Amino acid sequence: MESALSEPVVAGLATDLAGDLVTPDDDAYDQARRVWNGMVNRWPAMVARCAGVADVRRAVAFAREHDLPIAVRGGGHGVAGAATVDGGLVVDLSPMDWVRVDPDDRRVQVGAGATWGDVDRETQAFGLAVPGGVVSDTGVAGLTLGGGMGHLRRKHGLSCDNLVSADVVTADGAFVRASADENEDLFWALRGGGAELGVVTSFEFDCHPVGPEVATCFVWHRGERAEEALAFFREFAADTPRAVSVLPFYAWVPEMEELPESSWGDPAVVFFGCYADDPEEGTEVLRPLREFADPIADFSGTMPYLELQSMLDEDYPHGRFYYWKSLYLRDLDDDAIAGIVETAEACPALLSTVDLWHLGGAIADVGETETAYTDRDAPYLLNFEANWDDPRKTAAAVEWVRDSVAAMRDRSAASGLYVNFPGFGEDSEQVAYGENAERLRAVADEYDPEDLFGRAGAET
Ligand SMILES: Cc1cc2nc3c(=O)[nH]c(=O)nc-3n(C[C@H](O)[C@H](O)[C@H](O)COP(=O)(O)OP(=O)(O)OC[C@H]3O[C@@H](n4cnc5c(N)ncnc54)[C@H](O)[C@@H]3O)c2cc1C
Repeated sequence: MESALSEPVVAGLATDLAGDLVTPDDDAYDQARRVWNGMVNRWPAMVARCAGVADVRRAVAFAREHDLPIAVRGGGHGVAGAATVDGGLVVDLSPMDWVRVDPDDRRVQVGAGATWGDVDRETQAFGLAVPGGVVSDTGVAGLTLGGGMGHLRRKHGLSCDNLVSADVVTADGAFVRASADENEDLFWALRGGGAELGVVTSFEFDCHPVGPEVATCFVWHRGERAEEALAFFREFAADTPRAVSVLPFYAWVPEMEELPESSWGDPAVVFFGCYADDPEEGTEVLRPLREFADPIADFSGTMPYLELQSMLDEDYPHGRFYYWKSLYLRDLDDDAIAGIVETAEACPALLSTVDLWHLGGAIADVGETETAYTDRDAPYLLNFEANWDDPRKTAAAVEWVRDSVAAMRDRSAASGLYVNFPGFGEDSEQVAYGENAERLRAVADEYDPEDLFGRAGAET
């Protein structure tokens, strides 16, 4: 889409920025306008690659003056693709990827363009970690602002639970700090409901001693025993220590040389996770998941935490087609397990997975209304991840996810939606935030009364 702005006006912005301004005439434009999800194909008027807070303030002011829709981009991995916008201005924070650790205070300051790989690398140099996600090139910003669950979730909580403060450029161009004692309402909202409230320019997190080696579980069991495997996991999970964060998922064995060729394409249930404490102890605690049955393959063992954190990276290449949608389960009863297996078996795209995130532990220590993130007492999050390469499968893949979510909502004690696995954002804020929706709306109205960041027009 062509920008209606005159050349001198655009050139003026380019001159003001320390970072680059990419417009449709630039060679870099095609790459700059894209996000991770190949389903999202938008044509912004310009992409401001911000080098620092001054650039962010200038870009936000420019969008406001010229009535341009804004998209804010952290790591660009938002599944719904909200980090780009047709005809608008993308505030691209990716150059702001600095990380500064204070090992004595066990704190880390993180620029809003950093990925979890950037943070893990710096914090692990001091034997520390912040709970992040399970893929290293995901952005710290979007993941934290929506909650953030990974391998440390049950022991140390969500990413947003470890947030100490955030620096934010608001719609009016002000620069504010949000923390437990400054702009408390904004701080409350940023933890789980943080997208489209303003531009967070940096995050400050608490860190925890982790690794460098951790005991991991990555064992592939046969899909024909899926119901039995999930029932077995339910019993295992009922009284497992909070150092254990395991995610069982239903998948189809990929054509990889590490996996036996005779099983390629077969359904499987994989137990994937780690024990975030003493590795020897963890190996014993995780052992039952490996020995539940004779597995197709077992890659479990002790490994560096850094390696665990990037182990799935190559399964999620840029530009593939993705549509992911979730719901919380209040009970993993037999009916829910039957539903998970039935919906999984109907999947039309075999790069997909059905993920059952075991929650609880530290996540449930925080009260339901203490942060915008909701459904804290749910023991599981179920996420249908459709992943496919062939565009002719698009309609079937999206329909499979939507039908599966609807079927699980009908048949089991289900609630809500995790905003980081949101479909294309078609659900209401009420669905995603429940009893916190009204307060979140009030914070958005206070900090962005003219809806510069498009929250009012968006769903989740
Ligand atoms: C491969 C992959 C693996 C994932 N694994 C996990 C996982 O293990 N755990 C988990 O919880 N989630 C996971 N997710 C989901 C992830 O949390 C979301 O996709 C998240 O939005 C990604 O953040 P981002 O900064 O990369 O995305 P972006 O697309 O840049 O941003 C996502 C949203 O946040 C807003 N935003 C980004 N930066 C800022 C900012 N600085 N200030 C204000 N708003 C901002 C954007 O406007 C957009 O609405 C995964 C996603 C992918 C693609």
